[in-house]
Amino acid sequence: MLIDLTGKVAIVTGAGRGIGREIARRFAREGATVVALDIRKAWLEDIAAEWDRNGWPGQQHLCDVTERDMIETAVRTVDEQLGRIDILVNNAGIASGARVEDMDDAVWGMNLDINLSGVMRMCRAVIPVMKRQGAGRILNAASFAAIIPSIGGAAYSASKAGVESLTRVLAGELGPHNITVNAYAPGMIPTEMNHFAERPGPEQERLLDTLTLRRWGTPDDVASLLVFLASDFAGYITGTMVDVSGGKFATQMPWVAHRPPT
Ligand code: NAP
Repeated sequence: MLIDLTGKVAIVTGAGRGIGREIARRFAREGATVVALDIRKAWLEDIAAEWDRNGWPGQQHLCDVTERDMIETAVRTVDEQLGRIDILVNNAGIASGARVEDMDDAVWGMNLDINLSGVMRMCRAVIPVMKRQGAGRILNAASFAAIIPSIGGAAYSASKAGVESLTRVLAGELGPHNITVNAYAPGMIPTEMNHFAERPGPEQERLLDTLTLRRWGTPDDVASLLVFLASDFAGYITGTMVDVSGGKFATQMPWVAHRPPT
């Protein structure tokens, strides 16, 4: 089975670094024209240079997912210049936290605004184009935190649980138009967002103990799933959240299997 995204136009939000950058790269390698959106100009210039070096087609747009005008301008430009939008990956996200009793309204609001409302804004802008085509794939970054939240992660977890619910609503609304909508739950992928692999040794061990495969995930592990979900092979999958977390808490105590027998 060869996955080929040649001729597809894919928008990736928060494509500047981390998982989003790798998703953009893998889509480009599979032949897609990738439209990279990010809030940092320097990342976009870096992407432009990488795409030039590799001869990949694409566009880069400065776009903050909290800004309706920026989103609509970017989507209109893509539609006018490339004529279609086949895939939307809502990857952009932040994770700032505090316990609820210490919660700052701004921190709560920012998590919801970027992680959840940002997904809604992007979908709202792209849906008319996908409906016109009679086809589309929308992929939303949720998190394992949507299912089992962390202490101090109320704002993040609530936003990602919202993404999971929004995904199912969208799948229902867009099913008649042959547009599939799925969420994915990555973990644990060391990035600038979490610095998992730079934490003190014992803390890393405790985190790894929660994973059935007992290794950190990579952005490429997530990108592999998304390349499949964005492809023609995934045409009958919609309204679901796919876990790509090395089997986090697939059993109650996954670490037991990794200990030497006593
Ligand atoms: P990351 O390295 O922090 O990358 C996030 C990207 O989003 C950055 O390029 C960032 O730009 C961009 N961004 C932030 N705010 C934005 C906004 N308002 N508009 C547009 N772009 C914005 O994070 P990551 O680990 O790759 O995570 C990517 C997604 O996967 C997130 O939605 C995250 O919640 C989810 N996720 C990750 C993990 C994990 O283990 N890493 C686990 C579960 C879920 P700047 O560089 O300018 O800040």
